[in-house]
Amino acid sequence: MSYRTLSEQEAVEYARSIPDLFPQDAQLVSREIGDGNLNFVFRIQDEGPSGRSIIFKQALPYVRVIGDSWPLTLDRARIESEALILENELYPGSVPKVYHHDTELALIVMEDLSEYQIMRKGLVERKRYPNFAKQIGTFLARTLFLTSDLALSPVEKKRKAASFTNPELCNITENFVFTYPFHDDPSNAYNPLLSDTVQRIWKDNVLKLEVARLKEGFMTRGQALLHGDLHTGSIMVTEEDTKIIDPEFAYYGPMGFDIGALIANLLLNYSAHEGHTLEPQEREIYQAYLLDTVVQVWDIFEAEFRNLWAEKAQEPYAKTPGYLDAYLRDVLQDTVGYAGCKMMRRVIGLAHVSDLESIEDPALRAKGEMLALSIGQEFILKRSTIASVNDIIALVTSST
Ligand code: ADP
Ligand code: MG
Ligand code: MG
Ligand code: MG
Repeated sequence: MSYRTLSEQEAVEYARSIPDLFPQDAQLVSREIGDGNLNFVFRIQDEGPSGRSIIFKQALPYVRVIGDSWPLTLDRARIESEALILENELYPGSVPKVYHHDTELALIVMEDLSEYQIMRKGLVERKRYPNFAKQIGTFLARTLFLTSDLALSPVEKKRKAASFTNPELCNITENFVFTYPFHDDPSNAYNPLLSDTVQRIWKDNVLKLEVARLKEGFMTRGQALLHGDLHTGSIMVTEEDTKIIDPEFAYYGPMGFDIGALIANLLLNYSAHEGHTLEPQEREIYQAYLLDTVVQVWDIFEAEFRNLWAEKAQEPYAKTPGYLDAYLRDVLQDTVGYAGCKMMRRVIGLAHVSDLESIEDPALRAKGEMLALSIGQEFILKRSTIASVNDIIALVTSST
């Protein structure tokens, strides 16, 4: 079937045609549930006795929130399904199971995670996830280590990198994370109360030079297969479990970009509680929980990474004294720099986060946004001084 966007009825018919998904007499209904910027997501459910449900995710040949004036490759659906399948091999159960994918239709049929909640929403409600740090830290260590030159032969790694070449989605990141927010670009959309601060940022050539270096790393450093868009809206959680969705930005890039994206989003939430949680003690307790989560994510990532290294490192230099420590220090410093860029772009640039956007009072929102900008700048400027995750926490707590 050549590409066309499926109507809800066509999605139901398609679901029926996939062997073994639903019983013969299933009474299927379909509903669009997507809240993302780019794609359509349908939930298809059997209202009959099986009660089974699945998710259809279909890419459109353009950006959903903008329309056909902004075309975007359908190849992202292939990348996303291949990344999900690979991530499930590298860390079983960490992502929704892919039941079927159709390259022509840019369609992925996957496990329904409706029991899970988008993590960003839970964090605004000050929920806690006792297993999250362990699960995401392990996910990061396994997916990053096991797709890198540390674990694969150089030939195998380069072949894998070639199959995950993702130029159009990388270009979105290059522009909207690294370039537009740091210049007076018409796409930017910031709280007018931040005008003076934003003007200062645009004139700060020291900061911009560091952002330029980080961007160059994003563009050229094919260290491992990244998720590429690992914010808390790409993570679905229950109290016990964590699933990572939406790897359509996957490509070979610097490990710190994924870890940094995650930490940035935890800290955007930390900043947002300046506006959401006005009772100081309550706020402090939850912010301390978020900082503790940052520390644990890094600590677990590092411990798992070191275990994998000890068991599986192929690189001939692997056992050279000091090599692993230096490697991890570079990843940590990249993490801090990319986290800083991600925080700043969510305040100044086009795409904001609901953690901050849902603070209705503009002055209170500005308080959270100013904190996010200040942490972001500190991270970008001071990343080369960072030697441990506790140094990151010190930069956060000294920012106001
Ligand atoms: P986009 O690429 O457009 O951002 P996402 O993959 O993030 O699309 O999906 C958009 C929304 O659809 C998610 O925020 C979530 O609410 C829902 N969703 C996506 N995948 C699943 C799934 N496997 N199970 C349940 N809900 C899902
Ligand atoms: Mg998404
Ligand atoms: Mg989404
Ligand atoms: Mg997406």
